[in-house]
Amino acid sequence: MKESNSIDIKKERIRLSRIGVLNSHLSSDPMASEKEAALAAVPSDSPTIFDKIISKEIPSKVVYEDDEVLAFRDISPQAPTHILIIPKVKDGLSGLSKAEERHCEILGRLLYTAKVVAKQEGLDDGFRIVINDGPSGCQSVYHIHVHLLGGRQMNWPPG
Ligand code: 5GP
Repeated sequence: MKESNSIDIKKERIRLSRIGVLNSHLSSDPMASEKEAALAAVPSDSPTIFDKIISKEIPSKVVYEDDEVLAFRDISPQAPTHILIIPKVKDGLSGLSKAEERHCEILGRLLYTAKVVAKQEGLDDGFRIVINDGPSGCQSVYHIHVHLLGGRQMNWPPG
């Protein structure tokens, strides 16, 4: 494939991904639009919007931060409390499926932080942790993140 074609395809994917994310924020059917955003996203190890959130280039509502992790409110909350917990250094962890043994410490740290933030948010009756992985798992941002959801009764099975 010619280099210019490959650049055009990448640009088109970025355009579709942006439309998907935009729709996910505007649509009245959040489930369908989140899926749309996830299907438009291209799995990759490239920098994501979360890098700009970590560097504070893009504002976010930070609820917890230390040297290793950042927790901030999701821009499109699916529950009264919806927080994303991410590692500050991605180290190849674009998603859980990329995990290697060296990631065990940071993976544990993300879950432990979810528990700390849940307590901080007063989610004493329970909460839900979600890690979406890949297109079928409805992942739209390829920087591993734990969703912490709470403040309402969750359903089971999940969609
Ligand atoms: P995923 O679908 O990959 O599991 O989750 C990505 C999450 O990131 C989505 O819930 C989406 O609403 C959230 N998100 C995407 N862009 C931004 C942003 O710019 N700021 C914040 N706070 N959340 C975002």
